Parts: sequence; structure tokens; C-alpha cells
Amino acid sequence: MSAHWCELAEGVLARRHTELDLTTGLVLGTERALVIDTRGDERQGAELAAAVRTVTTLPIVVAITHTHFDHCFGTAAFLPCPVHAHPGCVAALRATADAQRAAWVARYRLRDAGTAEALAATVPVVPDGSVDPAAVVDLGGRSVELRHLGRGHTDHDIVAHVRDAGVVFAGDLAEQGAPPDFGDAFPQDWPATLTALLGLGPRIVVPGHGEPMTPAEVADQRDALGRIAALHAAVATGSLDAAEAQRRSPFPGVRWSS
Ligand SMILES: [Zn+2]
Repeated sequence: MSAHWCELAEGVLARRHTELDLTTGLVLGTERALVIDTRGDERQGAELAAAVRTVTTLPIVVAITHTHFDHCFGTAAFLPCPVHAHPGCVAALRATADAQRAAWVARYRLRDAGTAEALAATVPVVPDGSVDPAAVVDLGGRSVELRHLGRGHTDHDIVAHVRDAGVVFAGDLAEQGAPPDFGDAFPQDWPATLTALLGLGPRIVVPGHGEPMTPAEVADQRDALGRIAALHAAVATGSLDAAEAQRRSPFPGVRWSS
């Protein structure tokens, strides 16, 4: 499967990428276009920017959902433009970019030398911290609300709410086709953050990886995360052994506790 666009509503598109099953977003107004996440290195970002230019010639605004490299290391290809993110994303990128790059270059060297080289050469663009805790991007004829709804996959995830289309781009707060990733997560806060996301009343939720989801699918994921939160709390109070909690996890084999 090669990368392709899916149109979710008029002027609201998701782009599905083979690499890491990533999903990025594009929202068109009459004066500007919003790109949601920029892929994982400068080469991938350039591919995405070229794909965006097959859809629109409008000036670009970028929103970064969170600091993980696969969502934000491709930003350079879109400059100059505004690059919106939560202040926590700015701090986390400054703190972790070198370590993320080193870890993933090492992984790619084992299976994809070209991507390893591209990532090694990438200097990520630090976004601004304008989404604190919300910002509105006026695209002309339509606005997109960028909102931090609480901690979850990270401490700084933002969603992009295209209210007129009933579409929410959720970053890695939601995952389709793979379990949620807990590497930098706040398991006890995550369910309430997804409840807040569902409270926006979306028709479609676009995850950071995988196919667009229904609200019911996101609610199922929220409920599974709620079971994780309960297990996490039981381990924290000493009423449950960590290994037993891991065994009872709705995501078998996925490590969510340290
Ligand atoms: Zn992530």
C-alpha cells in the first residue's frame, strides 16, 4: 500500500502512510490550509509537503499533535509557516529530540538504511507554544480549534477539532489497528481526556496511526484505558502485584507500567 488521501468531509482529508501506519491531516479553508503532523524526518516531510501541494496551493499552517518524532520531525519542508503546538510539546521536543533520533536511527539501521540516514540528518523544527490550552486557526470560511484536553498519550497532546465537519484529529490519544502506546503516557488521566474528546461530539475521529474511527470505537478504547487506569491505581496502592496487573491488561503484551 502506498500513501494515499482519504476525504472525510469537504476539504477535510486524512493521509495514510505506510511507514508506521501513520495518519496525518489536511483541512482546507478559502485562504489557508492546516496540516496536522508532518511525519518523521525531513525526507518524509518533503514527501508530505509535495502531496499537500497536489491538493492545494493555499498558504500552510502546521499543527503538531505531540512531540514524538514520527509526528513532527518533518516540519522543515513546510516552512516558513506558523507551527502550532502545546508549550509542553516545545519543552519535550527540546528535551528529547536527540534521544528520540538516536533511538530510532538505531532501529531503522537494522531494516531501512535510507530512513536511518534521513532521520540522522534531520534537525526537528521547534514549534511555538501557542496552544495553551487552546487556539483557533482561521482558515478562511472555517476555523479549526486546537485544544489540549488533558494528559493522556503524553502530557501535551492536542486535538484539532473541525467543528463544521464533525471531525477531530486526535494524534496518538487514539490508535486504530494497534494498541495505544504508553511510553510517555499518563494512564490514569488518559480515559478522562478521551471522554473530553468524545464530548466534542465528533462524527469521525482520526487517530495518529490507522484508519479513521467512529466515536463508538474511541469509546471502546477509552473503556479499555479505564481498565488500565484501575490496574495502575491498584499497583500504586500495593493491592495488586505489577506482573498480575500486566496479565489482566486489555492490551496483552503492551507494557504500560514501569
Ligand atoms: Zn506518539
